[in-house]
Amino acid sequence: MKSLRKLQLPHGHLRLPVFLPDATRGVVRALDSSDLSRCGVEAVQMNVFHLMLKPGSSVIKAMNGLHQLFGWPLPIVTDSGGFQVYSLIRQNPKYGSLTERGMVFHPDGSTRRVNLTPEKSIRLQMDYGADIVICLDDCTHVDEPLSAQQESVERTIKWAARCKAEFTRRLDCGRRPSGKRPLLFAVVQGGGYRELRRRCAEELLEIEFDGFGLGGWPLDSGGNLLLEMIAYVRELVPPQFPLHALGVGQPDSVVACASLGYQLFDSTMPTRDARHGRLYRFTHHPAASSLDGKWYSYVYINDAEHIRAGRPISVHCDCLCCSNYSLAYLHHLYKVSDPLFYRLATMHNLRFMVQLTQRLREVHGTL
Ligand SMILES: [Zn+2]
Repeated sequence: MKSLRKLQLPHGHLRLPVFLPDATRGVVRALDSSDLSRCGVEAVQMNVFHLMLKPGSSVIKAMNGLHQLFGWPLPIVTDSGGFQVYSLIRQNPKYGSLTERGMVFHPDGSTRRVNLTPEKSIRLQMDYGADIVICLDDCTHVDEPLSAQQESVERTIKWAARCKAEFTRRLDCGRRPSGKRPLLFAVVQGGGYRELRRRCAEELLEIEFDGFGLGGWPLDSGGNLLLEMIAYVRELVPPQFPLHALGVGQPDSVVACASLGYQLFDSTMPTRDARHGRLYRFTHHPAASSLDGKWYSYVYINDAEHIRAGRPISVHCDCLCCSNYSLAYLHHLYKVSDPLFYRLATMHNLRFMVQLTQRLREVHGTL
């Protein structure tokens, strides 16, 4: 499928496909924004729910938004808080409840109440200066029963309509220079039920959005990517609309979804893997990689084989770590739990993801 090449956003063009590191709480752990730039990262994803708890909306507004606070000049995508419905409330009701109006959270299981409605989610994301704003949705796991999936789809559609109304109202009120309008994405829910996915996509297309996201946890209970449903959602959303594979970041999964026509990806996996000593390595030079078969492998830095290894993680990588340091030094930093290990390893895995998306642009003809 011929894919979109880029999105025009308030903080510049975003080339597609793109992987967005998750800076959930306003930071990609262990890195500052100049480290991200050095890796070639072109945009990051943050989470409105976590940011409204800490540092809090009044602080972010006082600092004139996330770009200024974070020291980051390029696009920021903000997630709505919908995933927290799944990860907190659905998995453990003591963390909050869900109503037609919105959600009530009890952070850390305390008696403190935090409300999040569709309107509030949009308002905060726009106040924060997000380049792509995502509608609040009701996220489910594919294993949940039909009744839960039906409820999620109905709520997601209603909330999306309220989000669109609030987004439009805020655009009409504000005086934004041309080209400074953020994009609004809605999320297609429906679990493993094709009919529900179809209904959700059709209703959302009717409301009209700039782009869409793949809703729900993208893996089955065995940890396998829900490829059939992922392909079906792309079929439901016409190709002129960008589609974000929310939460997808495992390298093979990114390649699989990109081949199906998805253009945006975000996940904590590459950075979390880095901190835990699982590093990614291309089998061949990325510019010549087929992205097929065994095109990459893992390096487990804790392995004793690296104690005296003078080579870098990858001879195909030009990151700060591979340009200057050996596996032996990284192994040592890991063993003594030095924060420098987290920085170097994270920069390496992010550089790998950037090289991967550059290769995907070549393979899918978007360069
Ligand atoms: Zn590297």
